[in-house]
Amino acid sequence: MMNDLEQLLPWLDEYWNQLVQVIKQQRIPQALLFSGNKGVGKHVLARRFAQALLCLSPSLDGNGCGQCRRCKLFLAGTHPDYKMLAPDETGKAITVSMVRQLTTQLSLKPQFDGQRVVIINPADKLNNAAANAFLKYLEEPTERTTLILIAEKPTKLPATICSRCQKLFISTPNQSDIEPWLKKHGLLENSKIILSLSKGSPLLVQQFSENTTLELRQQCFVNWKKLSLAKTNAVEIAAVWCKLEKIEVEYLLFWITSWVMDIIKLAHICQSEKLYNPDLLADLQEMTQKLDLKCLYKYYDFLLLSQKQLDTQINKQLMFEEILIQWSALNKK
Ligand SMILES: [Zn+2]
Repeated sequence: MMNDLEQLLPWLDEYWNQLVQVIKQQRIPQALLFSGNKGVGKHVLARRFAQALLCLSPSLDGNGCGQCRRCKLFLAGTHPDYKMLAPDETGKAITVSMVRQLTTQLSLKPQFDGQRVVIINPADKLNNAAANAFLKYLEEPTERTTLILIAEKPTKLPATICSRCQKLFISTPNQSDIEPWLKKHGLLENSKIILSLSKGSPLLVQQFSENTTLELRQQCFVNWKKLSLAKTNAVEIAAVWCKLEKIEVEYLLFWITSWVMDIIKLAHICQSEKLYNPDLLADLQEMTQKLDLKCLYKYYDFLLLSQKQLDTQINKQLMFEEILIQWSALNKK
């Protein structure tokens, strides 16, 4: 069910207006692909669109009315013509048997006389066999069915699937555009730094503000600094880091990269407000003075490479060990 925070995400308005036009002009595509970074509201938009398609009497602004029987069923999660395809666990794949189960259900007529909607999230987690089975369905789709695929990395989807979808890329909004929204929801405190830590994704600001993300990042940075002073051991820290539950590896790795980017920026005498981590200025400045810029650039390239490897079956502990060992070596030069 939508909560108050989800209902109106102002940076989604322009995309919503496009979708409303699609409904009004009866040009509803068979499949849509919503892409964009984590936390920009892809799923919120997809659910809003799904409800609008299912609703018996959408309001003038195109939203589902929330009052009709079908809206009520949708909001309760029991609308028979609404389906959601997702992995059993976050990070796991969507398997071929899950796709087959869905397509078997879709082979029956919709229960009501309206549209049927399926959300597939995240579609870039369809494994190869699942993607092939899904493609077969797309080649011979069932009647009155709209599929909404959601993906952070649509390039990981087979081109044969992408080409059959109408694409909607949701860009990460500018900080100034979301400030009123942050303010309205009491999320302005530390928002600059938290936006940095979350790669600018507004819905992650909410999540990161609610838990102890800032403290966690502080702890990680302290470890990283200790390592630069040879006061701790890379393997030990790596063991702790790969077990952190409250933060995904992707973000921790991004934080490390942002520290290195800031050190490089400071070496070029950049203003402190242009940093990702202005609150760590003093420490970062100290590191800048100590480190060799050429080696830092190399280390930065290595971090980017590690980010790319996150999509593979890489051993996370070994990855962090390597990152920390190299960092330690960089500081000994
Ligand atoms: Zn309705």
